[in-house]
Amino acid sequence: MTKRLPRNKQLIIIGGGASGLAASCIAAKHGIDTLLIEKNSKLARKLLASGNGRCNLLNAGEPIYFGDSKFAKSVLNNCSFNRLVEFFNSLGLVLKQEEGGRIYPTTGRADTVLDCLLRPTKNSSVSINLNERAKSIEPLDTSFKLVTDKSEYICDNLLIAGGSIASPKLGGTKDMYNMLMPLGFNMVAPKPALCGIDCDMKPYISLDGTRLMAICTLVCDDKPIATSIGEVLFSKRGLSGVCIMQLARFLPGNTENCHIYLDFSPTLGIDYCNKHKASNINMPFDMGLVKPSDIYKNTQIALDFLQSRLTILNKEDILLGALPSKLARICTKNSLNETAKAVTALKFCGLSPRGFEHAQVAAGGISTKNIDPSTMQTVYSNLYISGETLNVDGDCGGYNLMFAFASGILAAMHVAGKY
Ligand SMILES: Cc1cc2nc3c(=O)[nH]c(=O)nc-3n(C[C@H](O)[C@H](O)[C@H](O)COP(=O)(O)OP(=O)(O)OC[C@H]3O[C@@H](n4cnc5c(N)ncnc54)[C@H](O)[C@@H]3O)c2cc1C
Repeated sequence: MTKRLPRNKQLIIIGGGASGLAASCIAAKHGIDTLLIEKNSKLARKLLASGNGRCNLLNAGEPIYFGDSKFAKSVLNNCSFNRLVEFFNSLGLVLKQEEGGRIYPTTGRADTVLDCLLRPTKNSSVSINLNERAKSIEPLDTSFKLVTDKSEYICDNLLIAGGSIASPKLGGTKDMYNMLMPLGFNMVAPKPALCGIDCDMKPYISLDGTRLMAICTLVCDDKPIATSIGEVLFSKRGLSGVCIMQLARFLPGNTENCHIYLDFSPTLGIDYCNKHKASNINMPFDMGLVKPSDIYKNTQIALDFLQSRLTILNKEDILLGALPSKLARICTKNSLNETAKAVTALKFCGLSPRGFEHAQVAAGGISTKNIDPSTMQTVYSNLYISGETLNVDGDCGGYNLMFAFASGILAAMHVAGKY
């Protein structure tokens, strides 16, 4: 038996994640009669897992987005970093900035962020239904009908904030795509982004468990596609670590002619920043994505480095003390030239992204064409879409949560302006 609500809601929000909760705070502040529907028994499971439980919720630097990146930047012009900081300050959340502009709560705990987001909704015009899954939506004359697995509702305004297909264990579903496509919305096929990359590790099995700074370049059809710098984690199944995760979104559907090359110049102690001043890379090596670089760029520098070490070490031990011994063994080749190539362009084949189960976000999603970046209003004037459901994905570093918060806030502000 389905239960019909006694009266229309002014706003229904589908999804109790970052975006839906930010919207609910605004709705509560303006006294908008709101119902938030969340299919899980707990709210915001991705937010709670974010930043290894520390919640890297914003980034103070230049926005770095993919997919409909212009749209994302426009959203963040309309709800700027400073405005988001004010929003969290108004909730009582104390923030701190770390390396690379990453913003965290000072408690270092994601649950503090959730507590603050929930505070305005207590004893307010917002009610929250857990364990209820939205199934379908239907536009009516001046309202929307929502069918869930428990009930049917009519609302004046509907905000779709149900996230993406990524990380299903934490709530990811295809539901939002399935609900929106019958209404004429286009979708850019989602693919896993920000995840580890499986590769043929047979030649490198001894490296299992090793962590090391490297410059990582994805090369497809002999063309450098993307370069990222940071700590790489080696396992039996492949490569991971933030810098590898950042490359995943660039993998094409067919990865047959794609390889990852690792350059260990930073670990070799080569004066990386100075040597790169002449090139298009001039950032410190902990800065993440940089412009795609040629894979043998540092080989000559490494050769000079190796030659200088011949004065203190014999040829077999030339990498001793410069790389972990297992890696040194793999890279030490007969000729110095070959060794220099191996330490600056160690090749990994058989690439495949680790899949949605392990992806922090989905690249792709509902196209933002015909969505207003200042209000998140769609062609249906009472239907709004926010957060990761959209074809926007950000780089590692707080950009994804930042977009989710900003877009949720803008949508709820626009709804509030109607009353
Ligand atoms: C492990 C991990 C670590 C991450 N770390 C960071 C980080 O440090 N910084 C950062 O910026 N980003 C991080 N992200 C990404 C970030 O968490 C997401 O981009 C962000 O949570 C998206 O917000 P959202 O509100 O759009 O979607 P979500 O947070 O996914 O919220 C959507 C909600 O809708 C619910 N839902 C789905 N379908 C239905 C339905 N049919 N009916 C009702 N409810 C439904 C889901 O259960 C979920 O609670 C991380 C993600 C993961 C998985």
